[in-house]
Amino acid sequence: MSVEKRRGQAPVPSGFDYAPAPEAREIVQLRERYGFYVGGRFLEPAETYTTIAPATEEPLAEVGQASAADVAAAVAAARRAFDGGWSSLPGSERAKYLFRIARILQERSREFAVLESLNGGKPIKESRDVDLPLAAAHFFYYAGWADKLEYAFPNRRPRPVGVAGQIIPWNFPLLMLAWKVAPALAAGNTVVLKPAETTPLTALLFCDVLRQAELPDGVVNIVTGDGRAGAALVEADVDKVAFTGSTEVGKEIQRRLAGSGKRLTLELGGKAANIIFDDAALDQAVEGIVNGIYFNQGHVCCAGSRLFVQESIAEPLVEKLKRRMATLRVGDPLDKNTDVGAINSRAQLEKIEELVQSGRDEGAEIYQPPCRLPERGYWFPPTVFTNVAQSYRIAQEEIFGPVLSVLTFRTPDEAVEKANNTPYGLSAGVWTEKGSRILWMAERLRAGVVWANTYNRFDPASPFGGYKESGFGREGGLHGLEPYLAFDRD
Ligand code: NDP
Repeated sequence: MSVEKRRGQAPVPSGFDYAPAPEAREIVQLRERYGFYVGGRFLEPAETYTTIAPATEEPLAEVGQASAADVAAAVAAARRAFDGGWSSLPGSERAKYLFRIARILQERSREFAVLESLNGGKPIKESRDVDLPLAAAHFFYYAGWADKLEYAFPNRRPRPVGVAGQIIPWNFPLLMLAWKVAPALAAGNTVVLKPAETTPLTALLFCDVLRQAELPDGVVNIVTGDGRAGAALVEADVDKVAFTGSTEVGKEIQRRLAGSGKRLTLELGGKAANIIFDDAALDQAVEGIVNGIYFNQGHVCCAGSRLFVQESIAEPLVEKLKRRMATLRVGDPLDKNTDVGAINSRAQLEKIEELVQSGRDEGAEIYQPPCRLPERGYWFPPTVFTNVAQSYRIAQEEIFGPVLSVLTFRTPDEAVEKANNTPYGLSAGVWTEKGSRILWMAERLRAGVVWANTYNRFDPASPFGGYKESGFGREGGLHGLEPYLAFDRD
């Protein structure tokens, strides 16, 4: 750290230099080639593609591209496991497997965290401190429910639905797997899961955990590949589809399933409002804003991508924010000092660049702190736009990158009106010292989750999901079990 001496004042730090603190990657042993995990065995794929590390573009492994026949084989294995005993196993027995999986994830958390950062580009401190602990926590939480379903849903005689087809995105690969697999198994279903094309490796390593836990063959099956594999899973003989991803694909799935009798839950995009009132603790709010939009490079469906600031404090708040942004360290995801890692794929980088250019063209003012980006890989600096009108694309569309749009408001009514002026409704944040105002706002914001004086806080006991084009159905908590259960009155 260098210290700047100012006349008549205490010395102040003028910059923080960090020595590299890379996490060792040797703990991860990758195979050259991965097939599909079906019925407890890896099946050899006919077609493969290369999955890479987005921070370096280094190839990591060959992964199978599932055909409709591969997907059908996985669904058949799940059906056999469902009929062959899993669905009639006492809840207390199912719970033992879930507890085992949770414990193994904890034991192997460093290995999983390194692999998650390598394949997805997110900073190791996030995969280590957020993704892995939360993934294990979901299995622990739902293990606790497995033998209490009769009490959770009294007089409704809950029973499993059957085979669940689950499709997940690339922003929280292992965590989204946990959100989907844990409640499904706790409720007595079997599963076929398709991870995103760009981030299949932690799901494939998870197969090893399933073997270690001695989960009966076929209870969880993993098929990999691009959107074609996802589409095949939707069409396959499954009883329920659970999807997290873009609104566009979510709508397409809903169209395909209409009239089929298959159940569906959709967790889609967002354009969350993070609302700062003039009585908020500004330094804490700045931390919440940074966490809300730069966490995981902004690849977060509930990212606080629209910042609404009460007009009287807009200037000082934006100044503070810019100063804080200048201290964010962008770079190697495996470095423990890194705050902002790599963009997940070239396609996503191009989408971010295109939307940022639209912000410039429409007249917003851009600020990016000076930072040196690595030469290889996919990178985008933390970005904030001011002078944004509500009609601009950067205020309307989900960017899914480290890009914040700042807008202002004068009254609480105006804040609510502007915050709700979006096709989405997944999450929101409110910063104020008045408890009554928090409740007043939370009642009026059309968002599935409203955080107060914090942002991006998750707990397995707390349901998560959207309104409007952010989807329907809830994951997490007791609510997260319902989509995986059938009831007498259904
Ligand atoms: P997608 O919705 O395309 O992908 C989500 C998952 O669905 C992936 O596993 C994907 O496979 C699969 N999929 C793709 N097409 C189909 C289909 N027709 N039927 C069934 N499954 C399908 O999101 P992208 O990854 O392409 O990201 C695009 C945009 O979506 C992002 O820029 C972001 O705005 C938004 N997004 C939102 C997320 C959220 O959590 N709300 C998460 C991810 C993205 P594959 O990976 O092979 O394409």
